[in-house]
Amino acid sequence: MSDLPERLSLREVGPRDGLQNEDPVSTAAKVALIDTLSATGVGRIEAVSFVHPKAIPQMADAAEVWAAITPNPDVRYSALVPNLRGAQRALAAGFAEIEVVVSASDTHNRKNLNRSTDESLDDIAAIVDLVHDQGATCQVIVATAWGCPYEGDVPVERVVSVASRAMRDGADSLAYGDTTGMATPTRVINLVGETRSAHPDVPLLLHFHNTRGTGLANVLAALQLGVSEFDASVGGLGGCPYAPGATGNIATEELVHMVEDMGVATGVDLEAMIAAAAEAERIVGRTLSSQVLRAGPRTRTIG
Ligand code: ZN
Repeated sequence: MSDLPERLSLREVGPRDGLQNEDPVSTAAKVALIDTLSATGVGRIEAVSFVHPKAIPQMADAAEVWAAITPNPDVRYSALVPNLRGAQRALAAGFAEIEVVVSASDTHNRKNLNRSTDESLDDIAAIVDLVHDQGATCQVIVATAWGCPYEGDVPVERVVSVASRAMRDGADSLAYGDTTGMATPTRVINLVGETRSAHPDVPLLLHFHNTRGTGLANVLAALQLGVSEFDASVGGLGGCPYAPGATGNIATEELVHMVEDMGVATGVDLEAMIAAAAEAERIVGRTLSSQVLRAGPRTRTIG
């Protein structure tokens, strides 16, 4: 375990990826959750997505949420967008970090974004230019990087080729999303290895869903390869539209709990993140999947 990164850059995605997959909650509750998360020590928060309100009504109030939060100067906030229109709205709202998503699987991209992967990549080239013109940064997230609910396995070469096109078109950084929890440690090692061979210096962030219970195992495999940027959602908030009853992202407090004990700093106050998970649970009104939320830290004693 000697080669682990000393410090992780965690991005909290509960307010976006989590709440987008829950029953709609009020604008005030979203603002309160983001403000609570902003005080946990987490360095990055994906606050909202600018998607068509008919497609994802849960995010229809994105601009209102962003205008109402109390930004913490120590936190980097980002917005996810699916297309040029979303990027324009995110920039108009004042976001300095934009994430644009494209699926490696053509079928998933058509279902999600109504166009082929190649058409989305053409759009992304224009989006990157627009974002840079406004002085913001653009991360390209390749979704279904470890498999697609329609097509099954997605070849590693296909994922790397989508990522390579985005990098050629000027993306500032890259993220891989395990959209429906199909990754295993071996598949993580293969994809990260092939990506590093093609792009040794690109900042790479990984986004795992715990749909099938492999989330933290995947993180550990990536840590051992030196990957130091991960998404996670407070409480394990969220679900998976393709796997009814499934859990959402890996839970932030479970990730923090594990890696801090391995000597990897996150900057996150674990007790504060557990309290935020309890708040998330109250907001969505159902029991969340996080086991650290239930059991507490390993050193919590009885009495
Ligand atoms: Zn996700």
